[in-house]
Amino acid sequence: MSSSQIIPPGSTIGILGGGQLGRMTALAAARLGYRSIIYAPDEHSIAAEVSAGYVRGAYDDAAALAAFAQQVDVITYEFENVPEAAVLECQKLKPVRPGTMPIHLAQHRLREKDFLRTLGIGTADYRPIRSEADIAAAAAFPGALPGILKTCTEGYDGKGQARVADKAALAAAWADLGKRECILEALVPFRCEVSAIVARGQDGETRCFPIGRNEHQGGILRTTTVPADLPAATLATAERYGVLLAEGLDLVGLVALEMFVTADGTVLANEFAPRPHNSGHWTIDACATSQFEQLVRAVCGLPLGSVEALAPSRMENLIGDEALDWPRYLTEPAARLHLYGKGTPRPGRKMGHVTYVLRP
Ligand code: AMP
Repeated sequence: MSSSQIIPPGSTIGILGGGQLGRMTALAAARLGYRSIIYAPDEHSIAAEVSAGYVRGAYDDAAALAAFAQQVDVITYEFENVPEAAVLECQKLKPVRPGTMPIHLAQHRLREKDFLRTLGIGTADYRPIRSEADIAAAAAFPGALPGILKTCTEGYDGKGQARVADKAALAAAWADLGKRECILEALVPFRCEVSAIVARGQDGETRCFPIGRNEHQGGILRTTTVPADLPAATLATAERYGVLLAEGLDLVGLVALEMFVTADGTVLANEFAPRPHNSGHWTIDACATSQFEQLVRAVCGLPLGSVEALAPSRMENLIGDEALDWPRYLTEPAARLHLYGKGTPRPGRKMGHVTYVLRP
């Protein structure tokens, strides 16, 4: 389908995926006068709850995907593990923005890192681990250990990965991960983690939100702080990497690039997600345009919005039982509370977030 078409307010946006990112995208779309229809396999979708429609179907159900695509004007996705085949199915009927290339790369850690390197974006040293021979070769390679062994596919929020100090630990971890195709990354002694969220429009214009500084615990994002309080040169490199990536992907939509910053100011990319990102939730309350509205603008061919931060802010995720503290956040004047309507809290489950809009 044509990729240079303006989708005006009043049209319908299809969203593949039914979680909180879809929910917040649908809310932003509604504010600009769009309807959203969600496609997901689950009985219940928290995105569908705030949308005009819900098509429930498996990601390999071609008929259900076609029925969904027929009802919408443009399609986007809210998670990068949507099977490529599902996107191709939708593309037969309607434009999908961004398309298959970003998910093809983001779904596979080796492809992803190779691609980042070809764009001139720095990463930690890494090596593929597909066999016992790769383990021996990696262990003999200076600087490969200590490292982090990660499955190439299906790992997120710190799952499917293990820290390994030596060859024996590497062999044991690879066996634990089911001897699947893995990547061994050198452990980066980072000073902090940051992310760049970049929107790119149909005309090729890019806009990068102010760089956020991220804290993780157990592989899960805890907080994002903006401004990131880092030297201007470091921020400029992080932004440049984000823009290089959006351009390299020939993206129409949004991409989030997570990076490490070392003590000497070196910036190394870790991974990217071609969709709104948890580290951009602060933009809803503290930026001229939210990342969700920016995605809607990009995929609908509208002008991109200003990325000016209106105030310093700190976003805190509410994970598991933390969301039960909602009455407290309601009494804090600087706190903006967002709950995702997920029902029962489970450990490690992102139930909501709170953004503190701080005095400049
Ligand atoms: P990931 O699943 O790649 O997003 O990793 C989750 C978290 O683990 C990151 O945000 C870092 O805190 C940590 N981590 C991942 N890869 C590395 C690495 N190569 N060196 C140091 N820490 C890492």
